[in-house]
Amino acid sequence: MLVIRTYERNGYTVYPIVVPAGYGLETCNFYLVKHDSGLTLIDAGMPDDSSWEGLIKALENNSFRLEDLTEILFTHHHIDHVGLVNRITKTHSIPVYAHSLSVPRLKRDKEFLKMRVEFFEQLYHEMNCGEEGKKQIQYLKKSINKNDHLKVEQEITTLQEGMSLFNFKIKEVPGHAPDQIAFIDETSKWCFAGDHLIQHISSNALVEPDLLGKRIHSLVDYKNSLKAFIDVNVDFVFSGHGELIQDPKKLIEMRLSKIKKKSEKVKGLIDSGITTGSELAKHLYQRHYSTQFALVMSEVIGHLDALESDGQIEKTMRAGAWHYRLG
Ligand SMILES: [Zn+2]
Repeated sequence: MLVIRTYERNGYTVYPIVVPAGYGLETCNFYLVKHDSGLTLIDAGMPDDSSWEGLIKALENNSFRLEDLTEILFTHHHIDHVGLVNRITKTHSIPVYAHSLSVPRLKRDKEFLKMRVEFFEQLYHEMNCGEEGKKQIQYLKKSINKNDHLKVEQEITTLQEGMSLFNFKIKEVPGHAPDQIAFIDETSKWCFAGDHLIQHISSNALVEPDLLGKRIHSLVDYKNSLKAFIDVNVDFVFSGHGELIQDPKKLIEMRLSKIKKKSEKVKGLIDSGITTGSELAKHLYQRHYSTQFALVMSEVIGHLDALESDGQIEKTMRAGAWHYRLG
């Protein structure tokens, strides 16, 4: 069980809100941060009662009220980080900040979401995913209307690399999500980084289209973000899930080495004559190909894109599907 305590450095006090989470994430973490200019909420949990109760309890235990919140900052757009925003701003209207790439996703822009479904439809077709791909596309299509109620109502003030808010410098760390950012407090040498780094599991570098529908090489981005983060002057990371991170540099080295090993494995399979994305996924993940289709394909495509951009593999199109071989 995670021990919840408060953290204090240089006039900033952090009150972690920790609620249980599934899918091997252990916990979902979001944070109250008290400072001279107010009481900031960094991320907003899941859209459920357990996150809501976690927030209310954290406020009450530390003699705050919901009305004391002065703004909400998002590390990225995923639903387990923004879940309570409407429930908060409905009664207490405060500014909401996120990266500019979060906006079409948080506002659930219909055109963008339709483009995103078309992107995955073509992608799964080219990766030769067959029935599993079609099932996932049906699910994504239904989700557009089904999840419409989750769109963020409040106007979003956009953030970008190099901007500052209070003591926090904004650093873009794309990879896990294209809009993933870190709030870095260099005076305190700590940062809030959402799912950029998770202590107990590797963060998925989820494949996504950019705003024009072109595939983002998310694992290439993620590796670059990890490497760039080694030089950031922080010794403590408030993570989006699981334990808080005491030695971020050591964790980054470990993550980079694991990514390298996995890439070698994918390359080895290609060398053994397995040529399509779906076949590679089945060999690497067996039954998880069906049970966690989107995650598994994202992982494989990430490695394929990274290997290809390194010049280690090449691909040719046959009957609508990409076939990979060593470069
Ligand atoms: Zn996430």
